[in-house]
Amino acid sequence: MKKTLLLAVVLILSCLGAKAASYFFSPSEAASLKALLGGGELRPGDRIILRDGVYRDLGAFDFSARGSLDAPVTFCAEHPGAAVFSGPLTIRLSGEYLRLEGLLFYKAWSAELCLVEFQKEEGVFASHCRMTECAIDDCNNPQKSEVAIGRMSSSISGEFWLGLHGTDNRIDHCYFANKRVGGLTVQIWLGEKDYLNNHRIDHNVFGYHKDYQGNGAETIRIGNSWSSQLPSHTLVEDNVFLHCDGEIEVISVKSCHNTVRRNLFYESRGGLVCRHGHDNILESNTFIGNDIDGTLGIRIINQNQTVYDNFIARTGGYGLLVRMGVYERPTAETDTELEPLTSYHRVENADIAYNWFFGCREINLLSGFGDKEPRHVRMWHNVFTGPADCFRVEHADLIPGNFNFEDNRYSLADGARPPFDGGFTPLEVEPDWAALERARVLDLMSVGQGPSWYLPCRTDRDQIIGHYR
Ligand code: CA
Repeated sequence: MKKTLLLAVVLILSCLGAKAASYFFSPSEAASLKALLGGGELRPGDRIILRDGVYRDLGAFDFSARGSLDAPVTFCAEHPGAAVFSGPLTIRLSGEYLRLEGLLFYKAWSAELCLVEFQKEEGVFASHCRMTECAIDDCNNPQKSEVAIGRMSSSISGEFWLGLHGTDNRIDHCYFANKRVGGLTVQIWLGEKDYLNNHRIDHNVFGYHKDYQGNGAETIRIGNSWSSQLPSHTLVEDNVFLHCDGEIEVISVKSCHNTVRRNLFYESRGGLVCRHGHDNILESNTFIGNDIDGTLGIRIINQNQTVYDNFIARTGGYGLLVRMGVYERPTAETDTELEPLTSYHRVENADIAYNWFFGCREINLLSGFGDKEPRHVRMWHNVFTGPADCFRVEHADLIPGNFNFEDNRYSLADGARPPFDGGFTPLEVEPDWAALERARVLDLMSVGQGPSWYLPCRTDRDQIIGHYR
């Protein structure tokens, strides 16, 4: 009995003492690298470390393992940025607590749909995984078009950089820039078995994204129209979007219960759009348009959207757009053949308060086709300055009873007034707008977005900060 007990203790101790291993690879060892990452032998705490060099044309491979909260399985560069992926590549993550760290993707492109896909195959997801301090720069398939050809072209010819599935994944302190081919920088996929994602996308720098001249080139899309009635609970916070010109939506929210807060949109020719889905919160974001054509603020569609404390300055297009709807919110009984989820659903219960609209070209209420006017829209405590004609209101007769304006302030050019009966009073004292903007931007930049080791990221950050020195 005593012997058995002793043996058991020794066994337990030897299991506990099993040391996590570090595995080193160089570019000539790609085959054994892929065999280890996908082989199922990795243990919590293991580190797969790439020595300096260019890892070319790796194609698609799996990184499958189960780490733990305290001991993730880490795939990283020995020296951040010195191990470079190039050529066709798809890394398929599956399992739990995996980490990608310090990796540079430069002139690589996706061998499959995505460069980094958070699932191995349909339904086999990665959860609790983290991609941190990585950079994806100028990764465009040279065979693919950099401009949209036809209406649905990007879904056929586009390529995605990150495809998130599963739950509780985090993308942080990364840099993404110079995307030119159609397709998303970051797509969050939702499905019947794959929602309530709790993903977190934070402290990243999204640099230049070339104008694709068509749809399907958002920088971030949370969901898709077909899955838009599902909750995602994704959090997008403390990121910088600089010159993200891919298309008219920098971020397209297409699901429910997401939060987008404290992001800086700097001279990006697109907007933050609640395109589909409900119950989203857009809070404390800052938009600096510098009067550039195509720079936008916030567009609201659907129900229960909250828009608080955003600072939207000098957008060349709308600072705010609350649109007409074509259909009611879909229910389980809705025939989506007749009322497709790709259409526009009525705005209802929008709460738009404590925002600053400073010198925006347009504040647009009720434009767009459809006959479902927004209902129960509360606009309180907002400040508006801008050109005399910045309020563009179609269907002014539909404002009373549907929009509740209270305690808004304005200061428009040429002494103009907003075209509403009540709820707006002149701004008695103009704030020091330049100081306010400077404080907002520098405060957002102070949290240190992007990988510390990547020079182009530092240059992008310095470019913004330099405007306020
Ligand atoms: Ca779009």
